[in-house]
Amino acid sequence: MSIRPGVVYLVGAGPGDPGLMTARSLELIAAADVVYYDRLIPPGALDGARGDAELVYVGKRPGAPAMPQEEIGARLVEAARAGRSVVRLKGGDPFVFGRGGEEGEALRAAGVEFEVVPGVTAGVAASAYAGIPVTHRDDASAVAFVTGHEDPEKAETALDWDALAAFPGTLVFYMGVKRLGENAAALIGAGRDPEQPAAAIERGTWSGQRTVTATLGTLAAAVEREAIGAPALIVIGDVAARREGLEWLERRPLHGRTVVVTRARAQASGLAATLRGLGARVVELPAIRIEPRIESAEVRAAVAAVGEYALVCLTSPNGVDLLFEALAAAGRDARALAGATVAAIGPGTARVLARHGIVADVVPERFVAEALVEALAGVAIEGRRVLVARAAEARDVLPDALRERGASVDVVALYETVREAPDQDAVAAAQAADYVTFTSSSTVRNLTEALGDRFPGSARIVSIGPITSATVREAGLEVAVEAERYDVEGLLGALLADAAR
Ligand code: SAH
Repeated sequence: MSIRPGVVYLVGAGPGDPGLMTARSLELIAAADVVYYDRLIPPGALDGARGDAELVYVGKRPGAPAMPQEEIGARLVEAARAGRSVVRLKGGDPFVFGRGGEEGEALRAAGVEFEVVPGVTAGVAASAYAGIPVTHRDDASAVAFVTGHEDPEKAETALDWDALAAFPGTLVFYMGVKRLGENAAALIGAGRDPEQPAAAIERGTWSGQRTVTATLGTLAAAVEREAIGAPALIVIGDVAARREGLEWLERRPLHGRTVVVTRARAQASGLAATLRGLGARVVELPAIRIEPRIESAEVRAAVAAVGEYALVCLTSPNGVDLLFEALAAAGRDARALAGATVAAIGPGTARVLARHGIVADVVPERFVAEALVEALAGVAIEGRRVLVARAAEARDVLPDALRERGASVDVVALYETVREAPDQDAVAAAQAADYVTFTSSSTVRNLTEALGDRFPGSARIVSIGPITSATVREAGLEVAVEAERYDVEGLLGALLADAAR
C-alpha cells in the first residue's frame, strides 16, 4: 500500500505543467480518500484520483475570502482522525512560500502524522522554462528566493533591502508583481545596479507562459506595458540576460498556436499531450462519446460463436478493446481467435490488438474500409463465416464487399458514438483557434451541428483522411490540410508541416 490511512500528505503539485508533477504525487493522488487542493495546481492534476475520492477546493475564489488557514488545518486534522488518507495538494513546493510549514505544525500539534512530498518550485521551473539558469558559473554562484509580499493577508514584514542589494547572486521574487515598482526602487536605493538584467515570467510552465526582460531599473515599466499579471516571478541578476542564448520554449514548433482536439475524451489524451509537448495550447472539445454496447444479444452471440469465424475484422482501437471486454465477460481470452485470420483497418487498431496478444494478419497500406477490402483479396472467405466488429453507425463498404465475395458476414456493433454536449468554456477558448483537428466523420458532423455558427470560422481544419475531409466539405467547411497517412501520427505530421509554412 503506497498510502497510509490517518496520515496527511503535504504534496507539491509543481508549477503548472502537468508533466512536472512527481511520480510520488501522482501515486498519492490516485490512492487518496480525500484531496484538499489549491488554485494553482496543474490542469488535470486530479484526473487520476479515485472515482469515489472527495476532492475539496480550499483555495481563493474571486471576490470571496479564502478559507482561513486555521480552518484548512482543522479539516486536515479531522479527516486524518477519521482514519482517511489525506492529500493536501499545493502549487509548486509545499514548503516554499506555500504555508506547508504552518500546516505541518498544526498537524504535529494535533498529534496527526504527516509526510512531505516536495514539488518543483516556480522559482526554478518558471526560470528554466524562460531559458534563465538561476545559477551560472560566470554570473551567479548563489540564488535567493524572496517574497515580494503581494499577499494581502500577510502583515508587512520589512525585508532587509541592504542585505538583498548586496546579495552576491540571483534574486528571485515570488508574489512580486504588485509591488515590483517599490521593491525595485528599494533595491536600487540600497545600492543594487539599476542596469542589472531582470525578467518577469508570467504563468511559468503553463500554456501561454510570457516572459519580459529589461533591467532592474526598467522592469516595472515593461511589466506594466505588457500587462504581466499574477502568478508571475521576478528574476533579478546577470543570469536574466542569458535568456537570449537559452530561450527554448518559444522555439518549439507549435508555440503560440491554439489547436482544438475533437476526439472523444477517452481517446484525446495522447494527441492532446503530444500537441502540448510541441508547444501548442490545446482546447479539448470532444464532439462524441463512446457508449459500449457489448451487453447486446448480437454481441453475445458473436462471442459465443467466435471460434467459427474464418476472418475477424476490427475497424477501430475502441472496437478491439470492447471485443476483448466482451470475450472476458464470457470467460474467454485471445485464444478464442486462434483459428481466425485477424484484420485491422490501420496500425492504431493493430497496436491495440497487439496489446491483447494478437498480431494482426492483415493491415492495409491506407486506412479506409476500401483498402482493407483490397488487402483481404487473398484471404479465402467464400462460403465461410466472417465477423465485422465495429461501431453502430459505420459505413457498409466492408461487409458489402465481403458478402459479394460469398462470405456469410455477421456485423456486430460493439459501441455507439453519441454526441457530447460542448463545454461552453471550451467553445469560448476555441474561438481563438489556429487549427481544428478532425479524426473521424462522426466528430465533424457532431461538432459542426453542436456549434452551429460558433464553429471557429478562421481556424484551419486538419483532417485525418479523405472520408473525414468529404464530411468536412459536406458541412460547408474547407479542409486546409489532409493527412497523407490516415492515422493520428499522419494528422500530426500534416499539422506540423502546415504550421512550418
Ligand atoms: N509554493 C509555490 C509558491 C506559492 S506563492 C512554489 O513553490 O512555487 C505564489 C507565487 O508563486 C506567485 O505569486 C508567483 O510569484 C509564484 N508562482 C507560482 N506559480 C507560478 C508560475 N507558474 N509562474 C510564475 N510564478 C509562479
